[in-house]
Amino acid sequence: MSKDYYKTLGVDKNASKEDIKKAFYKLAHQYHPDKKTGDENKFKEVNEAYQVLSDDEKRGRYDQFGSADANPGFNGGGFGGFDYSGFEGGFDMGDIFDMFGGGGRRQRTPQGRDIQIDLQITFAEAVYGVTKTTKLRKNSECLDCNGSGAKAGTKLKQCNTCGGKGKTVRIQQTILGAIQTSATCNECKGKGKIPEEKCRTCGGDGITRREEEINIPVPAGIRNGETLRMSGKGEHVSVGIPGDLYIKIYVGTHKVWRREGDDLVADINIKLTEAILGSTREVLAVNGDKLTVTIQERTTPGTILRMREKGIPKIKNGRNGDLLIKVQFEQPAKLNKKSKELLKQLQDEGF
Ligand code: ZN
Repeated sequence: MSKDYYKTLGVDKNASKEDIKKAFYKLAHQYHPDKKTGDENKFKEVNEAYQVLSDDEKRGRYDQFGSADANPGFNGGGFGGFDYSGFEGGFDMGDIFDMFGGGGRRQRTPQGRDIQIDLQITFAEAVYGVTKTTKLRKNSECLDCNGSGAKAGTKLKQCNTCGGKGKTVRIQQTILGAIQTSATCNECKGKGKIPEEKCRTCGGDGITRREEEINIPVPAGIRNGETLRMSGKGEHVSVGIPGDLYIKIYVGTHKVWRREGDDLVADINIKLTEAILGSTREVLAVNGDKLTVTIQERTTPGTILRMREKGIPKIKNGRNGDLLIKVQFEQPAKLNKKSKELLKQLQDEGF
């Protein structure tokens, strides 16, 4: 075995496991084939070295025999089969960047948790839209300081610990040389500013757990099971962006109307005589309007009466859906002797 794994990783023979790991991360980052500085062969070499030196048993054999193989005599030190495509899955590349400061890349902005709630609305509310008010107990901006953390009447001042940068920079001496690491400032939690005097209500965090009243604008035409998202209405965090609020909508049923696409549909049952002679019927619309429905003379069962654009408002390119009334016959519950005689006469007339 001519390969010098220690040299490959740039560490000395007494290097600790931690040093080996750090060196590997650094080089893996540098040579990763997806990177501009990438080099697939070097990347494989680095990985091969790390596979051996990070494993006590293999490292021991390597130190002793110059090979990590259990039977160095039979196997010419072959160490193939490594597939770098699995590399990213093995550990988070973000760790590498975080570990070495990464030049500010991949600095994740903290985010508050999302909240999901269910909201029950009526059929009419779904058709015409509604604004619902709900109370949520969650971490919200402190009302007394409007989230600034400063006591009312006092100001914010620059944080002395980080000089207003929100970050503290540390130089770490490692076997690879000096490495600059940065961390969120503990004093100002990354804000760069601290209150001259802390708000008593929130202790300077700018956040309190309290019940917040939230107005939820539900658009006209929403369907059962749809989810609305209100950006920033989830849990707040002291530094970072608040989470989102997801509202799952449950639409109740209506005793007369149902929805078919963007149309509102109702069934009306008419009597035989109405079907033949015609009549007018009153139907209560979803918005409470009284609709007068005219049944024409000699209406066929199954006729659909359509009222254009009286359905779900502004659904299709600003056009409303329609109102449909499906006309069905209703058989008389019972025929008495007199009715039968009259119908017989009609039958004799050829009806
Ligand atoms: Zn406060």
